[in-house]
Amino acid sequence: MAIYKDASYLQQSSSEAFDQDYGPGAAAPQAGLYRCMGCHREIGIAAGHALPPQGHHAHTTSQGSVRWRLIVYADHKPK
Ligand SMILES: [Zn+2]
Repeated sequence: MAIYKDASYLQQSSSEAFDQDYGPGAAAPQAGLYRCMGCHREIGIAAGHALPPQGHHAHTTSQGSVRWRLIVYADHKPK
């Protein structure tokens, strides 16, 4: 679970950027925090960098494959 102290640094968003899962090793389209939807592990990554590979951490069978989802979009520039 990601946590924060000062809510003025974060803003709720309904952007579709938060709706897509990315496979291991995929390029992160946005800088920020990503959560593995299988085991809930979180990572921080720069835009364009490769998300961690399948071997980054182990899953049980019930957790399924490693799939990364954006949960905090860093340095978002409104269009
Ligand atoms: Zn995982």
